[in-house]
Amino acid sequence: MIEKAYRFSLEAHQGQSRLSGEPYIIHPVAVAHIVADLRMDDSTIAAALLHDVLEDTPVKEQVLESQFGKEIVLLVKGATKLNVGFPFSSKEEEQIENYRRLFIAMAEDIRVIIIKLADRLHNMRTLKYQYRDKKEVIARETLEIFAPIANRLGIAMIQTELENLSLFFLDPESFLSIQRGIERIKDQREKQIQEAEMKLVNRLKQTNIDADIQSRFKNIYSIYLKINRQNVSLEDLHDLIALRVITKTVEECYAILGLVHSLWVPVAGRFKDYIALPKSNMYQSLHTTVIGPEGSPMEIQIRTRDMHHVAEYGIAAHWRYKEGKSGDVGDAFNDRMAWLRQILEWQQDLRTTHEFVESLKIDLFDDEVYVFTPRGDLKKLPRGSNPLDFAFLIHTEVGNSCIGARVNKQIVPLDYELKSGEIVEIITSRSSTGPSIDWLRIAKTPAARNKIRAFLRKKNRDENREKGKSYMERELKKFTLTTEEQTVVNSNITKFMEANNYKIFDDLYVSIGEGRNTIRQFINKVVPYDIRKRFQRKNKVISQHVLSGTGEGVIIQGVTGLAVKLARCCTPVLGDKIIGFVTLGKGITIHRQDCQNMERLTQNGDRLVEAGWDESYGQLYEAGLVVEALDRPKFLADVTNTVANFGVAIRSVHAHLMGNDARIYLVISVKNKEEMENLFRELRKVPNVKRVRRGGVFGLR
Ligand code: MN
Repeated sequence: MIEKAYRFSLEAHQGQSRLSGEPYIIHPVAVAHIVADLRMDDSTIAAALLHDVLEDTPVKEQVLESQFGKEIVLLVKGATKLNVGFPFSSKEEEQIENYRRLFIAMAEDIRVIIIKLADRLHNMRTLKYQYRDKKEVIARETLEIFAPIANRLGIAMIQTELENLSLFFLDPESFLSIQRGIERIKDQREKQIQEAEMKLVNRLKQTNIDADIQSRFKNIYSIYLKINRQNVSLEDLHDLIALRVITKTVEECYAILGLVHSLWVPVAGRFKDYIALPKSNMYQSLHTTVIGPEGSPMEIQIRTRDMHHVAEYGIAAHWRYKEGKSGDVGDAFNDRMAWLRQILEWQQDLRTTHEFVESLKIDLFDDEVYVFTPRGDLKKLPRGSNPLDFAFLIHTEVGNSCIGARVNKQIVPLDYELKSGEIVEIITSRSSTGPSIDWLRIAKTPAARNKIRAFLRKKNRDENREKGKSYMERELKKFTLTTEEQTVVNSNITKFMEANNYKIFDDLYVSIGEGRNTIRQFINKVVPYDIRKRFQRKNKVISQHVLSGTGEGVIIQGVTGLAVKLARCCTPVLGDKIIGFVTLGKGITIHRQDCQNMERLTQNGDRLVEAGWDESYGQLYEAGLVVEALDRPKFLADVTNTVANFGVAIRSVHAHLMGNDARIYLVISVKNKEEMENLFRELRKVPNVKRVRRGGVFGLR
């Protein structure tokens, strides 16, 4: 079959040549060689020989199938670039579609991706013949897509070579300087390792354990990562060579570990047992770092021969075992391949490719997800990242003005966990009030969190300054002072500021706004007791009703000393008919009288108290509202623009789509009920809006 495939391919590619000038057949043969080196089965080797036939020659699928059968045709088709019946609107779209198609093909038959990796490997080996402007694009794609796939499948052999080749083309200077550096220190380092090797060999002889010891320099790309991550020079890296001990059984692995630790002192925290807890790509080994000869750290890996095979060949090893019919090992593999089986099961449940892609959770990369901008640019984020992280990765301003996101054209919450292959679009609004403190809970990447913190620090300072200033002015206004008294108070304020090391008034305002100094403390310090006493009586009636320190602007008859909070379920604003509910241990919550929870609340009627608004409060109220509509393109943008044009600040936006029904949850800052109702009128004019109603702010702030 392999011979037949070779002849068929030779004839089909007759007259074609590679950019190197060599006959084209060189390429499929090289790809077949790589696949054979991975010990893949005959069908895969034959398919590797034929992998470019459908794409680059006039040979038709039916002809190929009649010659080689369904299995091989499926493999060839999987490895062939996308050829759909409709034109793509852009190059980017085509690229995204290619990746998706690749992932799907991989889920259908893992051998497809092995051919694809081999194809890429040979193309990378011959990349120097490629056009200059294409070199970098191909190398980057290799490093960002293909090498991680090889890693995920545990095929270290291919992963390492792809990474090194990519680095060579992307950053030749670094590559060559590391290569030269290795030459420089090689002899000296190898001497140290050989000394250690001898010591271990002698020890193993005494114990009758049969084991091979290998030593190997780390590959250039992993050294490159280390140098850049730790910001050190090559000479500072001590564990450039790892000792590898390969033995027969798992028991022997642990026995050897004991010997190693009796010969050299282990470095605390560097022992890893990947035998008991294999990596997700099936890799198994014991890793330990010890203080080796001349006091420098030395990494030692201990594994069985089978584990070693898996470490090099990864998923490709599966076929060796399958063909060798050593059932036990095969079953162990099948267990570890659960993730792949899962993908295959989903595939059966889902009718269309589109549905499949939407629901496919490709657990392709160990700790990174790869997503696309709407223009098709590839962006890399740590696993667990969400649209907010993505927004700040694009640009700080995009992050700061982010009000929502779409993934694959569907609106998602900001804490939606991004998956590889998704297209992420950030919805921004110029009138957004910017990051809120909750964003720190949502954002996962350090970069995004730092940018949010910086924004909040500045914004909080501004807000607290205004808040502190108005508190202070309001409280001081309650005292009518003689000129003499005013002088005393002024000098007390100066002293207060000096004592607290506040250089300008803004510092004082901010401290009061933040609550570092409460307004009460401040007044008691700067207004002498006799003056306060004189005004106490007069203010008594009011102070009984106005509850201090809550800042919510509500008056409750006959109650003092309890904290007042506006309910998050109905978000009352100035002008609403309200009622207070005495909660257990948490003060009083103010609800709208038409709150949905009223019925439940009145069951505890004795805990309801009358409440009214303090008109002089003068602050904005945070209120929730819900817009229900028939979804259409740009609907969310139109809603947020309407709110913005109306001059009301948006605190947050969450949108949900159920079928064609869109529901947008907004949290806004408003002056009062009247302003809110006027805004409702504007929103009802937006096309497709069915209903606008008041809402809560649960989980939305
Ligand atoms: Mn090819």
